[in-house]
Amino acid sequence: MSRKMQVAVLGSTGSIGLSTLDVLARHPDRFEVFALTANNNVAKLREQCLAHCPQFAVVVDAAAAARLATDLLAAGCKTRVLAGEAALSEVAAHEQVDAVMAAIVGAAGLRSSLAAARAGKRIMLANKEALVMSGPLFMQAVREGGATLLPVDSEHNAVFQCMSGPGATQAGVTRADVRRVLLTASGGPFLRAPASALRAVTPEQACAHPRWVMGRKISVDSATLMNKGLEQIEACLLFALPPAQVEVVVHPQSIVHSLVEYIDGSMLAQLGNPDMRTPIAHALGWPERIGSGVESLDIVRTARLDFEAPDAARFPCLGLARAAAEAGGTMPAVLNAANEVAVEAFLQRRLSFLEIPEVIERVLSRHSSLPASSLDDVLSADDWARHEAHAALRAAAGVCA
Ligand code: NAD
Ligand code: MG
Repeated sequence: MSRKMQVAVLGSTGSIGLSTLDVLARHPDRFEVFALTANNNVAKLREQCLAHCPQFAVVVDAAAAARLATDLLAAGCKTRVLAGEAALSEVAAHEQVDAVMAAIVGAAGLRSSLAAARAGKRIMLANKEALVMSGPLFMQAVREGGATLLPVDSEHNAVFQCMSGPGATQAGVTRADVRRVLLTASGGPFLRAPASALRAVTPEQACAHPRWVMGRKISVDSATLMNKGLEQIEACLLFALPPAQVEVVVHPQSIVHSLVEYIDGSMLAQLGNPDMRTPIAHALGWPERIGSGVESLDIVRTARLDFEAPDAARFPCLGLARAAAEAGGTMPAVLNAANEVAVEAFLQRRLSFLEIPEVIERVLSRHSSLPASSLDDVLSADDWARHEAHAALRAAAGVCA
């Protein structure tokens, strides 16, 4: 019998992490969980370690790591507990690991995702922020490390599936036969909300996504449409396309996960129920297909598939992301960092929903894009943008007071 694939799940306690463990548990003959990681949710990680018995568990917070180690020992579980951010990269690049689910949210996942790329792993990428920030540097690490990059973001996974064919099975290969990619957007919870109503929306309303259950940060990004902006940058990088060839179309049913149009006029789409276990299973099984536990799509009951243009005026984040994509260099890292700071402030009720794009715009307008040729370039742009965004938050608070 062939050796089981050893999988490290980074961010195992999050929404993508949970769906990944669900799919893995359906295939005990095929996969073994090698490592699980969390920021500080020790209770959930403990439960996961007892169920999956990984070799390693990583907790970023040292005190929480020590608590977990004591707990696991008492429960007779042999998992070794590591602490600190560096340990995330260690397990991602561990020689016994075959595949890494990169499902940490935000810039916090950059180093470990890059480590997996450099170590030549199968990287199943959910952590879009890492790719947006480091762009060409990330793709270079994938090439030089001999890694296999498989998109887990549902839209990009759909595009990847629609592009599979002779000579096109690896993301990052330019396709002269592709006319454009259409990324579908559900439109988020405020698709039909008038501009005047957006002023007073709460974090709870923003996180109540009509189609997907996700972490809080990506839920807010879906409500502002910044998620689609980040995804546009992600698509340009993964499929080596200029921003003009990646369009966004609102599709409220979230059944068509994205489309690819070829130069002969053929348009291919990938459809399915909105459940992240489908793209996760695709990335885990590729190039084979494996079961995901996702229910069959009832197209008769679905009956209708609607498509409409996004409203750029009500959702300015789309335009901000497009401008950052076109500027390139350090601009996408600045966009991402400013967005992370603004979203966190919104979740903590220190910033209103409509101020999120205002903060980002202010930070972008103060930045002249520089080459992003090294990790240091990316990290200093990220640092600068966080600093500027905090200054913009203070200015916004001053206005409110
Ligand atoms: P989540 O908030 O539910 O989970 C985030 C995970 O990252 C948790 O395990 C948490 O412990 C870990 N984490 C957070 N901060 C950390 C830090 N500083 N250091 C180490 N670990 C840390 O988020 P999610 O919804 O699962 O999203 C994860 C990633 O996948 C995001 O980049 C998101 O954009 C992307 N994604 C998510 C979905 C979805 O349906 N949830 C879909 C597409 C893409
Ligand atoms: Mg997506």
